[in-house]
Amino acid sequence: MISHQKLSIQATLLGTGTSQGIPVIACNCEVCRSINSKDKRLRSSLLLKIGENNFVIDTGPDFRQQMLREEVNTLRAILITHEHVDHVFGMDDIRSYNWIQNHPLDVYAEPRVQDAIKRIFSYVFVNQKYPGIPKMKLHVINDKSFKIDGVKFIPIRCYHHKLPVYGYRAGDLTYITDTNYIPYDEIKKIEGTRVLIINALRKEKHISHFNLEEALEVIEKIKPEKAYLTHLSHGFGKHDDIEKELPKNVFLAYDGLVIKLN
Ligand SMILES: [Zn+2]
Ligand SMILES: [Zn+2]
Repeated sequence: MISHQKLSIQATLLGTGTSQGIPVIACNCEVCRSINSKDKRLRSSLLLKIGENNFVIDTGPDFRQQMLREEVNTLRAILITHEHVDHVFGMDDIRSYNWIQNHPLDVYAEPRVQDAIKRIFSYVFVNQKYPGIPKMKLHVINDKSFKIDGVKFIPIRCYHHKLPVYGYRAGDLTYITDTNYIPYDEIKKIEGTRVLIINALRKEKHISHFNLEEALEVIEKIKPEKAYLTHLSHGFGKHDDIEKELPKNVFLAYDGLVIKLN
């Protein structure tokens, strides 16, 4: 049994959509045409406020808009799950924090993901730097827990089809996205978590994401007090319709949802 610190955490779902977001460009389906604000989903990302520090898991293409919407005026560090476009392509916009905090931003990612970041944002890592480019300090992570200003994060190794990705546990909250397989030993690391946020793309099976049935199976194994489904496709249906079908302790996440843990 892994010991966990008691942390007072405020989590905000910055985005809860799959890679295209909802509405999808040029789609006329009933979900994309819905006027319910809960059916508008930016690319998936999570804000964690722990003590006085803000942490963000993933910086997708909507990062700028998400930071403005939630009025995130300081940012301590970024944790990356994996290098897909919808999880990293907004990282250029850390420039405002570089300016305000007068410091490179700490970015935590595994070596393969760091290589991708260096390719995608190659201008950040060249010798002759253009003035005003983002400044980041990359920190290597692996399966072991690590601390940022005393806050412990536990990486959870998951698989996005064949691609290894990381979920993260902080205190009694665990965030897992873009996965369809969690090995047994990693499930053990999540046990005792009170809040589980996990990806569920839609009802139909998918090669690299849990569908609803598979996500519910994981939730049943871990038995958190509350579970929230994220990284949703427009193919899943409308928010209010899906929520009616979910078990009592399972909810559909939506953009701007705040979860507090004491
Ligand atoms: Zn994704
Ligand atoms: Zn649609």
